[in-house]
Amino acid sequence: MGDVRCPNPTCRGPLRRFRDLTEEEVEATRAVVEEYPSERAEKFRPQAYHRCTTPGCRRVQRKDNWRVGGNLPEDL
Ligand SMILES: [Zn+2]
Repeated sequence: MGDVRCPNPTCRGPLRRFRDLTEEEVEATRAVVEEYPSERAEKFRPQAYHRCTTPGCRRVQRKDNWRVGGNLPEDL
């Protein structure tokens, strides 16, 4: 997916590798980004988001805007 910024404390600094969401991450990601009015205004598209692959990091965020995102629940 390419390397992008991850704002989590464990990842801040060098760019991090992100990957597409898995099927089981989709619903949790929808819940995370619903916090953003801009995201509620448009139809949820799982392909618009990706997940940080750094071990221990559960960050999901928009591919086109790293500021829009949050953390998946601990079991994901
Ligand atoms: Zn991260």
